[in-house]
Amino acid sequence: MPELPEVESLRRSLEKVIIGSQIVRVTVKHPKIVSSSGTTRVPNLAKVVEFETDLVGQKIIRLTRRAKNIIIELDSGNCLLVHLKMTGQLVFEPLDNSLQKVLGGHPIEESESSLPNKHTYIIWELDNGALFYNDVRQFGYVLFYSSYQAILDDGHFGTFGLEPMDEQFTADFLAQKLKDKKTPIKTLFLAQSVVVGLGNIYCDEVCFEAGILPTRMCNTLTKKETKKLYESIKKIIPKAIGEGGSSIANYLLGDGSRGNYARYHNVYGRKGKKCFECNSVLMSTVLAGRTTVYCEICQK
Ligand SMILES: [Zn+2]
Repeated sequence: MPELPEVESLRRSLEKVIIGSQIVRVTVKHPKIVSSSGTTRVPNLAKVVEFETDLVGQKIIRLTRRAKNIIIELDSGNCLLVHLKMTGQLVFEPLDNSLQKVLGGHPIEESESSLPNKHTYIIWELDNGALFYNDVRQFGYVLFYSSYQAILDDGHFGTFGLEPMDEQFTADFLAQKLKDKKTPIKTLFLAQSVVVGLGNIYCDEVCFEAGILPTRMCNTLTKKETKKLYESIKKIIPKAIGEGGSSIANYLLGDGSRGNYARYHNVYGRKGKKCFECNSVLMSTVLAGRTTVYCEICQK
């Protein structure tokens, strides 16, 4: 599953090529993808009609992101909410060589050479190219909303905490949120309810950077430790975005290459290997159902 830095990298790549593009024609090949976001989705043909007709003639004016959702904003105020989930990808193929092909999300071999292909479920024909939504296992979704407010009213972002780069996300805010919680730090972060963007990879990396065990109960952290945790989030997330995320997430960048952040991983995926700091063997445990790697010497 891609994490926030990978999704943000894709958003940035797409932003360079589709802002200002006009939608000429839309084809939905799998009604389920545009019908709803649940796990058991019933294809809704009315949604498909709305999706295919209302978008035509509109211009893409903005591309934003909330947690791991990409929001395509149109000149009428209509919005498309895209969540790639485990195996979705977005590909932009330009009409001519003046623009770069953008391919981001789960790697799908066919998409390198042939578009649309058997995994293509939505095609937006644009005046400067075509945008494809491809998804191997169809867990992802692309939903049409009349406005950005309608997304909020739908409760789509209701449980999300702050974005790590939001100026409201401060060390004091984090301390306030952690002080009474009798939950392991990693479990709380994975829930995304305090701050978004810390999935399995970045939770482990942030905890290592902060020198704090991911299993520590939030309410046992000292003020100094909370500050260190905060500073580690503010350091690691932008760095990971800058590197295009981690290739280990099996996620391709906008230009089809892999993210570089994996080479900075200190603990994630390194169970049984030696700690770069102290040379002791890295340990692992399971927290909230996720493999968690840490150094018992460097992290307290
Ligand atoms: Zn160590």
